[in-house]
Amino acid sequence: MSGNAVRREAIWNVEAYVPPAVSFNGAEAPGEIFGQNVFSKAVMQKRLPKSVYKSVTATIEHGATLDPAVADAVASAMKDWALEKGATHYAHVFYPLTGLTAEKHDSFFEPVGDGTSLAEFAGKTLVQGEPDASSFPNGGLRNTFEARGYTGWDVTSPAYILENPNGNTLCIPTVFVSMTGEALDHKTPLLRSQQAMGEHAARILALFGHEDQKVVAFCGPEQEYFLVDRHFFLSRPDLLNAGRTLFGTKPPKGQEFDDHYFGAIPDRVLGFMMDTERELFKLGIPAKTRHNEVAPGQFEIAPMFERGNLAADHQQLLMTTFKTVAKKHGMECLFHEKPFAGVNGSGKHVNFSLGNAELGSLLVPGDTPHDNAQFLVFCAAVIRAVHTYAGLLRASVASATNDHRLGANEAPPAIISIFLGDQLADVFEQIAKGAASSSKGKGVMHIGVDTLPVLPTDPGDRNRTSPFAFTGNRFEFRAPGSMQTVAGPMTTINTIMADSLDYAATELEAAIAAGTEFDTAVQNLLTEIITDHGDVVFNGDGYSAEWPIEAEQRGLANLRTTLDALPELITDSAMELFEKYGVFNHREMHSRYEIGLEQYALTIGVEARLALEIGTTAILPAAVKHQTEIALNIGALKAAGVEADTAPLDEVTAPITALRAGLATLRAAVKADVGHSALAEAEHARDALLPAMTEVRAAADALEELVADELWPLPTYQEMLFIL
Ligand code: ADP
Ligand code: MG
Repeated sequence: MSGNAVRREAIWNVEAYVPPAVSFNGAEAPGEIFGQNVFSKAVMQKRLPKSVYKSVTATIEHGATLDPAVADAVASAMKDWALEKGATHYAHVFYPLTGLTAEKHDSFFEPVGDGTSLAEFAGKTLVQGEPDASSFPNGGLRNTFEARGYTGWDVTSPAYILENPNGNTLCIPTVFVSMTGEALDHKTPLLRSQQAMGEHAARILALFGHEDQKVVAFCGPEQEYFLVDRHFFLSRPDLLNAGRTLFGTKPPKGQEFDDHYFGAIPDRVLGFMMDTERELFKLGIPAKTRHNEVAPGQFEIAPMFERGNLAADHQQLLMTTFKTVAKKHGMECLFHEKPFAGVNGSGKHVNFSLGNAELGSLLVPGDTPHDNAQFLVFCAAVIRAVHTYAGLLRASVASATNDHRLGANEAPPAIISIFLGDQLADVFEQIAKGAASSSKGKGVMHIGVDTLPVLPTDPGDRNRTSPFAFTGNRFEFRAPGSMQTVAGPMTTINTIMADSLDYAATELEAAIAAGTEFDTAVQNLLTEIITDHGDVVFNGDGYSAEWPIEAEQRGLANLRTTLDALPELITDSAMELFEKYGVFNHREMHSRYEIGLEQYALTIGVEARLALEIGTTAILPAAVKHQTEIALNIGALKAAGVEADTAPLDEVTAPITALRAGLATLRAAVKADVGHSALAEAEHARDALLPAMTEVRAAADALEELVADELWPLPTYQEMLFIL
């Protein structure tokens, strides 16, 4: 089939497509299915002996270690429940450093000598697994002869049933560590960091009179994504293999009209959303809002916030669910940060707060001056953390795919700053002035139990250009990429918060011990923090041309690309920080750095080979065919004695020549031997592969606007983004 025939057939198929009936038809109340596939506390309470239940909840809520006898009882109840739910297998689910989800499946049924089988599932099997880990990245943490890794149940994240037409599986969320106990995954450090932050937050709370509080991190991850019809998706090898288009000119109608943002959701997409919501509800994932995003074909989902590690597990599960359900609806769900050049990209906003059920979010201004003073201490801790460790925050969102987004005029800039909103910023400005004057003069604010005014509960203006914004009861980290797990950014936020809260608690404790009045100690601390770290507060337009210049004057780093950001992981101060709070040791930090480089080089390597292949075997032949037809036409006209305009031939020949040259450069770069160090490969990807790909793409995109439509081999942006 010619290029055009393939594309036309795809369009006909899209038109003829009948979406499946949506199973979530309102007949079942969401309340009835919510959590139906989760081995929740409620289920445990019903099925476990009282003492066992009490022991497990102690583990879940207070981090007590799980007694082996209790594990056996839980495993047995879990197995019975899973079998009733039609499960035949169980799987330890873990989150290796590829950023994906991995599962090791085993059957419940073990053959017995007499030809029958017996359902077995002991406590030991529940709490520990031993997958072969040799195929997962470890950044030098494991020798291949010690290829084993261990998985261990994260008791705070409940087991669940994953339904599949071919049978159901009991899934157990686990950590994944090496023989030596070092983290090979994203969950282990997240749990460690939550614990560290909780500990130091509790110290601050104790100073404010809230004794023995267990503080946890909350995370509400907003997810942006694109939907494209699978007929198009399957005829784009770049989308299929790299998750983004490596070729394609902007559609004549783009997002200029802003008619997609919060516009009507197409029926087919609505059907998909209802189906995903139903599946998410079954898994106990509180999916909430849904709306169209800025770009055509782009949408967003924001589940309700949960405890950080649970939110991270649920977020991964959400992505898997979206992929599966989209396929069922004849669509492909794209999580790539930049599937279409020139069209808005996708992010994943990590809404962060800390607190607990009793006190709520500690980032909410309170009703009393006393509460407000406490709020300001937590806020100041955030300001100090973000300012001191901006590089680590930047590194936590660094990837080849997110590089296409950060710093472009649609996502937050790569410069990490904080938006407080005018009112809160004003409060901190007054606090800063307090340092210079001890009088109660105008515009000077004193932090005191009686004197602090009521603070704004709404930051008012919603600055969308800030990478780290206060939004009334939480901070919203907007730089994470749509494809990445939230565990990385959350681990970083928790750890830098642990450090700041530790600092604040230590200062306050020392001042009080030295006889300083509590109010004065708080005032001094806030003044000091805002004086030293206020430069990170920026309420202006992060997209403006002036901001990078001003940021530089303020000493804020602008780490534009992944390779600029990753070295932040292995600075002395970073390694000391993570080691101090028991989140990563030096070896683990080095391994994360190495894996970051490897993933970067791998991603771009795949793209480069794809661009070379598509450019050589699909685009160049189509262009040459078109060129030949024009040449033949000119020849025929001349033979017939008609004057022929040769300009169209020149017009198409120039980009063909450029394409050939670009492909030659790309081919040489792909074949170049740069040695095997991760850094050399990553630098080669940045310095040789990416520029060659850009050159190839420029020529190919120019050709797309010239070559006869019937010859063009790839579905166009217009088709993929607007036909759903
Ligand atoms: P917006 O589009 O204005 O950013 P959304 O409603 O789309 O807001 O998303 C807000 C996200 O923030 C949701 O996931 C929500 O659950 C989460 N969130 C709300 N309050 C908190 C909080 N205290 N801590 C963490 N996340 C929160
Ligand atoms: Mg948001």
